[in-house]
Amino acid sequence: MANPNGNAALFFDLGGTLVKLNDAREIPLDANGDVVVELLPGVAEKLRPMHDHLMFVVTNQAGIRRGRLTAGKMEAALAKLDHQLGDILTAWQICPHTDDDKCECRKPKGGMITELADLYGVDLASSTMVGDQEVDRLAAKAAGVAKFVAAKDFFGWQG
Ligand SMILES: [Mg+2]
Ligand SMILES: [Zn+2]
Repeated sequence: MANPNGNAALFFDLGGTLVKLNDAREIPLDANGDVVVELLPGVAEKLRPMHDHLMFVVTNQAGIRRGRLTAGKMEAALAKLDHQLGDILTAWQICPHTDDDKCECRKPKGGMITELADLYGVDLASSTMVGDQEVDRLAAKAAGVAKFVAAKDFFGWQG
């Protein structure tokens, strides 16, 4: 898992970290069932200058398994997010499962992070995870990511 010859990377959660959630803390959908991608304050301004970093998004989307949205619509939403950020994302991983599936990718497990690290030659021991929930911190820890930063601190939100 550790790759001391690899590069440091930034791993980001999606909902509540990079983009807004609805009142039910779900990814919002429009009338066509497409994902509404609305960046949270300061996200674009903070990330665009960091384009020389390896940057990944790792997101739990159990709504795919539950039939609320499709994997294709979620992929389209991440491509749209990447475009809004100036095409700076290196890659992303989406876990479509629920807890019942007992997969290795759903956070708080570290599978999405370790898979990306293997694919892109990331040194997790010099990498950082940014997220808004405890599952994000636990996933980073499980994967061997050195540092976890709360989204509100990373992006400088008040309260
Ligand atoms: Mg979140
Ligand atoms: Zn999964």
